[in-house]
Amino acid sequence: MNQSTILIVEDESNIRRFVRIALEKEGLAVLEAESGSRARMEAATRKPDLIIVDLGLPDEDGKDLIREVRAWSSSPILVLSAREREGEKVEALDAGADDYLVKPFGVPELVARIRALLRRSQALSAAAGSSSRASFGDVVVDLASHEVTRAGQAVHLTPIQFRLLAALIRGHGKVLTHRHLLLEIWGAAYSDRAHYLRVYMMQLRQKLEEDASQPKYLITELQVGYRLSGVTMN
Ligand code: CA
Repeated sequence: MNQSTILIVEDESNIRRFVRIALEKEGLAVLEAESGSRARMEAATRKPDLIIVDLGLPDEDGKDLIREVRAWSSSPILVLSAREREGEKVEALDAGADDYLVKPFGVPELVARIRALLRRSQALSAAAGSSSRASFGDVVVDLASHEVTRAGQAVHLTPIQFRLLAALIRGHGKVLTHRHLLLEIWGAAYSDRAHYLRVYMMQLRQKLEEDASQPKYLITELQVGYRLSGVTMN
């Protein structure tokens, strides 16, 4: 595999340096941008494999940068957000970011998130939308025929349960916000009804998890949304 290139967009030079040292130690190449305008140029010309974006940039809101880059790039975007601006991470995910880290964060966590995002995007481009079967744990889902099995036994899902599961599979392990899921499954009129999701997620866990109260795959991201962990396309 070619060496992956990471673009870090952050105005604080000490954080850029800290991230650069950590990622270079992992064998990754690092580009730096201290502003949104510089980031646009680097992203367009160098085509990084992953972009880290601080939401508080000097010349613009990081969310606007994410929205714009997402319109023409499928590279994963990892957001860095300050703890006092908790609500912003949800908006950043809705703008097209793939994952987030809250400052201050440690090197092992940063490296693990980046590795996971790179693996996912490589798997996605390898599959290139051709596969219609997904699996996690002992569950196999056929997205074309809507058949679901667990340990070889057929599992019956209602249409809404299936749509929720399919949306999580298409997210391929990334955090999907409440708003994203509600829009995709029920439409705009329901975008504030996060309690619908709680009900249907609980039903899915009861059907697909070994222990619905301690899910291994259908994971809650507190205050943010849900993600499907450990999914592979085959
Ligand atoms: Ca900043």
